[in-house]
Amino acid sequence: MHEQVRDYKVTQEPYYRAVGDEVDLYEAAYAVRMPMMLKGPTGCGKTRFVEYMAWKLGKPLITVACNEDMTASDLVGRYLLDANGTRWQDGPLTLAARHGAICYLDEVVEARQDTVVVIHPLTDNRRVLPLEKKGELVEAHKDFQLVISYNPGYQSLMKDLKQSTKQRFGALDFGYPEADVEKEIVSHETGVSNDVAGKLVGVAERARNLKGHGLDEGISTRMLVHAGSLIAREVDPLAACRMALVRPLTDDPDMRDALDAAVTTFF
Ligand code: ADP
Repeated sequence: MHEQVRDYKVTQEPYYRAVGDEVDLYEAAYAVRMPMMLKGPTGCGKTRFVEYMAWKLGKPLITVACNEDMTASDLVGRYLLDANGTRWQDGPLTLAARHGAICYLDEVVEARQDTVVVIHPLTDNRRVLPLEKKGELVEAHKDFQLVISYNPGYQSLMKDLKQSTKQRFGALDFGYPEADVEKEIVSHETGVSNDVAGKLVGVAERARNLKGHGLDEGISTRMLVHAGSLIAREVDPLAACRMALVRPLTDDPDMRDALDAAVTTFF
């Protein structure tokens, strides 16, 4: 592995509880270097999955959290000024393409369209990345793969991926795991008993039913892990649920009270 990407190697096996055939499907996609899109709400295991797959495939993983201020240069690279003049510095996407890492662009819809288009030549047969400012055409390393995550729930006309971008990817759907699996994840991640994990999942199921009826998003697995970690530290479960599950989710006093009431039916 090239020294420039060695630090990005996933050295320890991440805990990932498969929910279906996504591991096999991803391996097949990687074998043909298909760019992949992981779709699903926030906090449902997309990042953990890609970390696990990078570990399993033995490839370095370079992750970029996308935001609307991000420019193409933030991905591709730029000239920097130093004592000896100017020096080119590869951005994360170039680093991954050049040296054969998996590049994970998290929440790619947050980036502007003119930023997102830089990935196009890397995601078709050419597998190249033009560095316009540098006058270089980088040919992607054989191990390079591009992965993006995408939350269809946030989708608005202003913030959606273009078909010309979407159609370059294979896509896997992620969602909140079914109750027994989610219980297992929460208890494994936090150390709380199966019984407590089951109650947390119960609260989440109630809240998820309110999605679209006053809530934009449901309680994610990530939030359950937060609540479980507090309870494992002997925080009172009611206080833990209010702080980790209810308050972050809603600013609406009626909704907050309804969710607090749901918590008290479990704890
Ligand atoms: P996102 O979908 O936003 O990328 P993450 O992958 O960061 O979400 O998941 C949030 C947390 O939920 C993880 O840190 C992990 O604790 C837990 N988690 C969710 N799904 C799984 C899973 N299938 N296996 C293991 N942990 C999971």
